[in-house]
Amino acid sequence: MAGGWARDGAVNEQIEASVSDELARLKARRQPQGESLTHCAECEEPIPEARRAALPGVKLCIDCMRERDSTFQARGGINRRGSKDSQLK
Ligand SMILES: [Zn+2]
Repeated sequence: MAGGWARDGAVNEQIEASVSDELARLKARRQPQGESLTHCAECEEPIPEARRAALPGVKLCIDCMRERDSTFQARGGINRRGSKDSQLK
C-alpha cells in the first residue's frame, strides 16, 4: 500500500499549504485596515501627520471626510423638508 501512503502525504501537504496561505491572506488583509494612508483615498491629497496619528487607519483627508459627513446631513435635511412639503400640500 505504498501508493496509498504517498497519496495521504500529498493531501496533508496540500492542507497545510492552504492553511498557511489563508493565514498569510488574513494578515495581509488586516494590516492595511490598521494603517493610516499617507494620501487621501478619494482625492489623493496628502493627509497631515497629526491627523493620521489622531485617527488610526484614516483613509480620507479632512475635506473629503467633511464632504462625506455633509452629504449625509444634507440628504437627511432634504428628506425631512420633502416630507414637510408633502404634508403642507
Ligand atoms: Zn481627500
